[in-house]
Amino acid sequence: TGSLYLVATPIGNLEDMTFRAVRTLKECDIIAAEDTRQTRKLLSHFEISPSLLFSYHEHNKGASGPELIRYIIEGKNLALVSDAGLPAISDPGADLVALAIQEGIPVIPIPGANAALSALISSGLPTATFTFAGFLPRERKDIRSVLATLRSTQGTLLFYESPHRVIKTLAHLLEAFGNRRVVLARELTKRYEEFVRGTIEECSEWLVEHPPLGEYVIVVEGESKEEAESAESAWWRKLSVEEHVT
Ligand code: SAM
Repeated sequence: TGSLYLVATPIGNLEDMTFRAVRTLKECDIIAAEDTRQTRKLLSHFEISPSLLFSYHEHNKGASGPELIRYIIEGKNLALVSDAGLPAISDPGADLVALAIQEGIPVIPIPGANAALSALISSGLPTATFTFAGFLPRERKDIRSVLATLRSTQGTLLFYESPHRVIKTLAHLLEAFGNRRVVLARELTKRYEEFVRGTIEECSEWLVEHPPLGEYVIVVEGESKEEAESAESAWWRKLSVEEHVT
C-alpha cells in the first residue's frame, strides 16, 4: 500500500512553498488537485511533472475519492493539494482522509501556509483559544443559525470570505454579535497584503469607501472581552489600516 500525503502549497507567495512539499510532489506517483489548471501552474514553476494529475473536488469527490483510494491500495503514493494552503481546510480533502483511514492507509501531513492561522497570529486578538468557522452558509436563515451558535463562543473566531460577500457578512456579524472588534486580513502573503482593524461598524464603513478586492480572512473577537482588553494594546480604539507592499 502507498501513502496519502497532504501537501500544503502557498496562499499567494510562491516563496512559502516548502522544500519538503517540492520533494514530496516530485516523488509521488499521483497528484490530486482541486483545480488542476491552477496546480499545473504551480507544478511547472517548481519543475514538477507528475505522471498523473487527477482532479478531486466537491462535485466529483463521490466517484474520484474511491478511485484515488484504489490507486493507493495498489501501491501508488498520492499527494493531495488544494488551490492554496492546507488541503482539507475548506475543501473536500477531509473526505479523502476519512476514506484513507478507513482503509488503513497512512496519512502524512506536509505542513505549510494557511490563511486562517496567518490571519489569526497577526490579528492582535487573543490566540489561546479560537474557532475556525470557514465559509458561512449562503442562505440568510442558515447564516443566522450558525452565528447564533458562535455568538457564545469564548475564543477568537475565524471566517473565510470572498470579496463579493464581505460587506454582507460584516452586516450579519454585527446583527448577531453586536459591534465587536474585527480584523480584515486581505491578500495575505501577496503583493498588497493588508490588515484593517477596528469595530465591525468601522470596518464596514472602510469597505464602503474602499471596495473589497482579493481574498479575505475575517477575524472576530470572541464572547469574552476580558482577555482582549487585558492585552497590551489599544489598537481597537480607532480604525487602523496596515498595508504591506512586498
Ligand atoms: N486551504 C486554504 C487554507 O489552508 O488557507 C483555504 C482555501 S479556501 C477554499 C479559500 C479561502 O481562503 C478564500 O476565500 C479566503 O477566505 C482564504 N484565503 C486564501 N488565501 C488567502 C490569502 N492570501 N489572503 C487572505 N485570505 C485567503
